Amino acid sequence: MGEATRNGQAVRRVVIAGGGTAGWVAAAALVRHLGSLIDITLIESDAIGTVGVGESTIPTSRAFHKFLGIDEQSFMRANGASFKLGISFENWGQIGERYFHSFGTTGQPTGLADFHHYWLEATAQGFGGPVGDYCVEYLAAQQGRFATELNGTPLSYAYHLDATAYARALRQLSEKAGVRRVEGKIAAIEQDPDTGFLTALGLSSGERIEGDLFIDCTGFHGLLIEETLKTGYEDWSAWLPTNSAWVVQTESTGPALPYTRAIAHEAGWRWRIPLQHRVGNGLVYCNGFLSDEEARAKLVDSIDGAPVTEPRLIRYVSGRRKKSWNKNCIALGLSSGFVEPLESTSIHLIKIGITRLIHAFPFDGVTPALTERYNGVARAEMEHIRDFIILHYHLTQRTDSPFWRRMRAMEIPQSLAQRMALFEQNAIAYQDSDDLFRVDSWVQVLMGQGMRPRAHNPLARLAPPDQLKRALGDLRGNVARCVAALPPHAAFLDRYCANEAA
Ligand SMILES: Cc1cc2nc3c(=O)[nH]c(=O)nc-3n(C[C@H](O)[C@H](O)[C@H](O)COP(=O)(O)OP(=O)(O)OC[C@H]3O[C@@H](n4cnc5c(N)ncnc54)[C@H](O)[C@@H]3O)c2cc1C
Repeated sequence: MGEATRNGQAVRRVVIAGGGTAGWVAAAALVRHLGSLIDITLIESDAIGTVGVGESTIPTSRAFHKFLGIDEQSFMRANGASFKLGISFENWGQIGERYFHSFGTTGQPTGLADFHHYWLEATAQGFGGPVGDYCVEYLAAQQGRFATELNGTPLSYAYHLDATAYARALRQLSEKAGVRRVEGKIAAIEQDPDTGFLTALGLSSGERIEGDLFIDCTGFHGLLIEETLKTGYEDWSAWLPTNSAWVVQTESTGPALPYTRAIAHEAGWRWRIPLQHRVGNGLVYCNGFLSDEEARAKLVDSIDGAPVTEPRLIRYVSGRRKKSWNKNCIALGLSSGFVEPLESTSIHLIKIGITRLIHAFPFDGVTPALTERYNGVARAEMEHIRDFIILHYHLTQRTDSPFWRRMRAMEIPQSLAQRMALFEQNAIAYQDSDDLFRVDSWVQVLMGQGMRPRAHNPLARLAPPDQLKRALGDLRGNVARCVAALPPHAAFLDRYCANEAA
């Protein structure tokens, strides 16, 4: 009858291994929603430390904070966080070109065809104008303006946050609500000799912590899910070959922009994440195309403010653990896999992973049906993200370096090839089930990277040109008026959530 029967154990004691963002996000969510039903222990080692990056988020963070009962203003004040309306992609399609992936909705849906079909028709007739003029978040980002809401409707925004302060705040929240934290290095992992299920973690101090369910948040090496359970890793580096990042924090040299910058270079890209009190910088590259020394120098040359940390090198392999949930162990965060950070999706995956676990918590024991469902959804979510990131690299006109020539020429997953063909032929874009990215996101990147569809939906031609022109003009006028009414981002931060260090 499978593992559930062999394990046959109700789940009351949850042990979280690791206290980075993943560990504390998991602890905070579990204790808030299941704290009266389960005991939660988190083990972390200050001596090992955390990866210390992961500072750009996506709008789903807001819903997750509500789920945890986090007050936005206090969280932002304590964190020195700033707001993010999207990502500015520079030098991706061509050197010198820029496009913006905004979190907002572009235009208005008609129920028949997506807005971009009408915009394409209007552009063909000569009056479409810049596509960003139809999106409040897009235009606000370009003008450096921000407010959390406009006439009672929230903007679609996310946060730039301090990774260390974030984990600390979640730790405080979790400990206050009853999570037991144990400091120490996990040195031994015990398994049931018959089923292989994990039974206890032994610390180098000699302490032993038993559990019914284990959450592996130990970062890249995946102490439980990989080193112990040998789950296996699906390596995606043939499509996503960047494998290294130099990171450094610098002082701010001006007001925080309300967006992340992702600036491509000859063998990858670099980020700029502005917080209230400092800036996070990183240079992502493939070390087969750029040496570590060259990459470090490139990052150091590109920063504006004085460094407040020493540059630090991080290695990774893009890919996913073959099963996120194996036996009675669930991997969250870097232990479950990592798609390089171009669209800031990793913390989101932690949050939906723990939310999904809460929705189907194995109170009466782990069953194959539960794990299969969990793993199936996790796979689909990550594969959609993988495809979206590959698109940024593959759909480029850049031929200036061996790296970009390879990215242009490589074979891509069939799922992405089919999407690109659909858009190229008929401007059809879609959000699949378990797909994080909306139609607008796919369209912005497809067109931003230079794809021009050969045809669009003929329904957009049914409207008489005057009527279409008037409707689009009204939309643009409305967006421009809304954005003009927003304060500068820096002024809003000052009023709403100024951080003392800033
Ligand atoms: C270059 C880079 C940039 C990134 N940028 C973004 C971004 O902009 N947005 C985003 O969403 N994500 C980003 N990420 C991903 C993000 O950093 C991670 O998802 C997030 O920090 C979670 O990490 P973690 O908690 O899984 O691992 P870690 O932070 O590595 O934590 C691991 C924990 O396990 C503990 N541990 C390990 N071994 C043991 C042991 N033997 N005994 C006891 N404890 C142990 C450690 O002490 C630590 O507490 C980025 C990642 C990289 C590499």
